[in-house]
Amino acid sequence: MREKLVSTVDIITEAEGVLDAANYSDQNFDIVEQHLFQPTTEINYGNSKQELKTEYLSVDFEIQPLDKELSDLAKDYLRYHGLLGLEETPDVIKNLINLDNWQEAKKLQYNFGGRDIDIVDLADGYRIIFCPNSEIKHGSVYHDKKVVIFLGDIASVGALSVVLHEIGHIKDDQNLKRLGVDKLTYGVSDTDNEQAEKLRKEKDASLFALRILWPALRQRSEVKKDVVDFLSFVAYASYCKNARWASDVATYHAHGWYSQADYDADQAWIDDYNRYEADRSAWDKFKQSEEFTAWKAQAAASQKLYQIDDDIEAFIYWREWIETTGKVNDENFLEKYYE
Ligand SMILES: [Zn+2]
Repeated sequence: MREKLVSTVDIITEAEGVLDAANYSDQNFDIVEQHLFQPTTEINYGNSKQELKTEYLSVDFEIQPLDKELSDLAKDYLRYHGLLGLEETPDVIKNLINLDNWQEAKKLQYNFGGRDIDIVDLADGYRIIFCPNSEIKHGSVYHDKKVVIFLGDIASVGALSVVLHEIGHIKDDQNLKRLGVDKLTYGVSDTDNEQAEKLRKEKDASLFALRILWPALRQRSEVKKDVVDFLSFVAYASYCKNARWASDVATYHAHGWYSQADYDADQAWIDDYNRYEADRSAWDKFKQSEEFTAWKAQAAASQKLYQIDDDIEAFIYWREWIETTGKVNDENFLEKYYE
């Protein structure tokens, strides 16, 4: 598989659009979730093996109780989310924190709109555990332990969407490992790249799920709308929100400067931005140095004092100064402040 890089700025710009769309949408997401996670049929989880058929979604599964390793993992998961050892246990998590309710799926095959979807096969060695009577619906994946966790009944289109989304994360992780990289985003600052990479992962995982579901969804416009809304708003918008707050302010200014068509102009801007960041951090170090006092005095002497009261103005003047005095090419100077 080839490496396909994604622009951090494109991702963050798009995330803002998603968030706005989610905020302004008339869609009631609680109702979307209710539709999607309504079990299409009642499953008796007391049976370890069962095949159920409904009009357009059928599930064929074999389950068993969690072994020691998986119980420990489920406990870690609950502890991590702060659900264990509470003084008062809210009703909504009572089923979830009882590990007797959890199951491992040894076989989990869906047929959705005529298409067979074999989850255990797709999961490629990852084990699948779930808590069918959990009132909270959630999915996650542990790459180091190779386990997918799903909270909720498995007999719904919502469950199938979430489980496929988690498998999308598995495929993505395998792809990154194959390429020997830890992220596919590139851009202007580390903070933004990191945030954008999270969004990319979420989007790609949902895209994986949608591509598998699409042939069936195409035939059922109502379910299609719910699944698309669920994956793009309910699941994705919360990540977009985090990205908005964690992202560098500078990048937001940059959005307006990005070109849809001119790669060189963008690259020049990125180079310029990186230079700017390096200069800013050098300036911060310079201000802590002994040289600073002398520099300030000479700045005052050249009647720049009014400027250096303001940090940005002082920085701009300092930037000019290192240019005109040739400090930018002075190895000692570079080593001291630019590392
Ligand atoms: Zn995800």
